[in-house]
Amino acid sequence: MGTEFANKHIGCTIHNCENHCSCDDYCSLDKIEIGTHEANPTKAPCTDCLSFKAKPGCDCK
Ligand code: SF4
Repeated sequence: MGTEFANKHIGCTIHNCENHCSCDDYCSLDKIEIGTHEANPTKAPCTDCLSFKAKPGCDCK
């Protein structure tokens, strides 16, 4: 499945990600993994998309 696929169940605005749908604000993966970098997550910024992959040539790492 290429990045032209838009998984309408996973909205995403991270255009720097290799898995972002090239045509709309959705992820192109069937499933993503969400995790946290906090010991005790209490709000949305504590969560991370662990399926994120920086686009090649992107200096967003
Ligand atoms: S893998 Fe995560 S960050 Fe990347 S497009 Fe999908 S939902 Fe967005």
